[in-house]
Amino acid sequence: MSSTESLRNLPAVDDILRHADLSTISGLYPRQQIVEWIRSAVDQCRKSILNGTTLDAAATARFVLDQTIQQSIVENGRRQQPVINATGILLHTNLGRAPLADLAIQRMQQSSGYANVEMNLHTGKRNKRGERICELLRQLTGAEDAAIVNNCAAATMLVLQAMAAGKEVIVSRGQLVEIGGGYRLPEVFAASGAILREVGTTNRTYLRDYENAIGENTGAIIRVHRSNFFQGGFVTEPDITDLVSLGKSRNIPVIDDLGSGCIQDLTKFGLKEPTVGHSVAAGADVSLFSGDKLFGGPQAGIIIGRKEWIEAFRKNPMMRALRVDKVTLAAIEATAEIHLSGRAESELPLLRMLSKSDHAIRQICEEVLEQLNIPNGCTLEVVPCTSQIGGGSVPGSEISSFGIRISGLRSDSVTALLRATSPAVLGRIQDETVLLDLRTVHDSQMSDLAASLSAVLNEVDDNEV
Ligand SMILES: *Cc1c(COP(=O)(O)O)cnc(C)c1O
Repeated sequence: MSSTESLRNLPAVDDILRHADLSTISGLYPRQQIVEWIRSAVDQCRKSILNGTTLDAAATARFVLDQTIQQSIVENGRRQQPVINATGILLHTNLGRAPLADLAIQRMQQSSGYANVEMNLHTGKRNKRGERICELLRQLTGAEDAAIVNNCAAATMLVLQAMAAGKEVIVSRGQLVEIGGGYRLPEVFAASGAILREVGTTNRTYLRDYENAIGENTGAIIRVHRSNFFQGGFVTEPDITDLVSLGKSRNIPVIDDLGSGCIQDLTKFGLKEPTVGHSVAAGADVSLFSGDKLFGGPQAGIIIGRKEWIEAFRKNPMMRALRVDKVTLAAIEATAEIHLSGRAESELPLLRMLSKSDHAIRQICEEVLEQLNIPNGCTLEVVPCTSQIGGGSVPGSEISSFGIRISGLRSDSVTALLRATSPAVLGRIQDETVLLDLRTVHDSQMSDLAASLSAVLNEVDDNEV
C-alpha cells in the first residue's frame, strides 16, 4: 500500500464520533473536546504514514478510537471528584484538607440558591454579612470580634496591610515559614506593604531581641506558628504571653498567626498544638487561623481579636476582595455550631478520625480483608502503621493506626490501579509495598473501599501485574 493510499484510509472525524466504542464517553465530555482528541489522533496517524508506516483503514480507526478513549481516561483523572483517602494523612492539602461535617454539607446545599446572606429575616432589615457567625466565633474563642476571609494567607495579607503598611513588623528568624504552594512569609510581607524586621537567629530568639528592635516605625509584632516543621535541640523563643506583655508595655499590637486553628486541646490524642483560646486568653490583639485545618471546616481565613482592629479590617478596601461566598459562610456557621455544641468529636470528621482507637481501626481492616479474594503471589495483611495530621498542622505528629499492606506486586502498578477505580483510592508506598491506612477512611466509604480493592485484585489476577 502506498502512502497516498494509506492517507486516503484516514478515518473521518464524524465516523469516529459515531462509533459505538465512544458511546460511554460521549455523554461525559463536551463534543468539542472529543473532536479535538480525535483530530490529534488522526494527525498522529498522518505523521506516521508520512514517515513510511503503512496503515489500513481498520488499523487507523482502531488507533484513533483507542487514543481517544485513552485521552478521556487522562481527562477523567483531572476532573475534581470524591476520593477515598487511605494515606493516613488527616489534612491532606492535595485532597482538599478537612472533610466537612454532614451538617456543614447540608447547610452549604441549602444556601446554594437564594439565602439571607445579608438580611435578618425577623426584622426584614439588612444586616452585616456573617454577623451571626462572628458572634459564634466570639463565643467559641473568647475574642471580642471576628472577620472571615478566603484563607489564612489572605488573613495575613489583610492584617499586615491594615495594621502595618509602611511600618516594620517584628518577627523571629526561626518563624519565617514557607507553608507550601508558594506561601512564603517574606513574600507575603512584601505584597502587603509591611516591612519585615527579622530578629534573633534560626534557633534562638529572646524577648530582648524583640525589645531591641522596637523603634519609631514599629507597626506590630507577629508570632507565626511553625506549622509544617519543628525545631529540636538548642531552641528558644518567647511565649505569646511574653510577647503580649512586651507589646502592651510599648503600645505595639501583637499578631498571632496560628495557622492550624486548633479549637480544643489535643493533648489527650498525644498532640501538642497551641489552641485558639490560649492565644486570645494570652491577650494577642489579633489571631489568625485557617478554616480548613484543625477547625475542620471549609477553606477560609478566620481573624479574631480586638474590636477596633476587626472594625478596621472590615473597613479596609481589601476586605471586599477577600470576602467569602454564602456557601462557605454556611459551612463555617455549621462548623462553629458543632464546636460550640460540644459534639465536635462525634460530628466533625477530622476529630472523629483522630479519636478512633487503633484497636477499632484494626478490626475494620480485618473486616475489609475478609471480603476480598486474594490472588496467588500477592499478600494482603493487617499491619500497624502511623497516621499524621499533615496540612500544616502539628508537625511531626504521629498517631498509631492500622492499615492493609499489599505486597508481592509492583507497588507503583497497584497504586495506579487503585487511583483508576471509582471512587479512586489513594494509599501510600512504604517499604516498597502499598499501605492503606484506614484511619482516614470514613466508615461510610468502607464498602466502596472493599469494592475498589476487589476490582484491583481481580485485574491483577488477570494480568499478572
Ligand atoms: C497554613 C498556614 C497558613 C496558610 O493558610 P491557608 O489557609 O492555607 O492560606 C498561614 N500561616 C500559617 C502559620 C499556617 O499554618
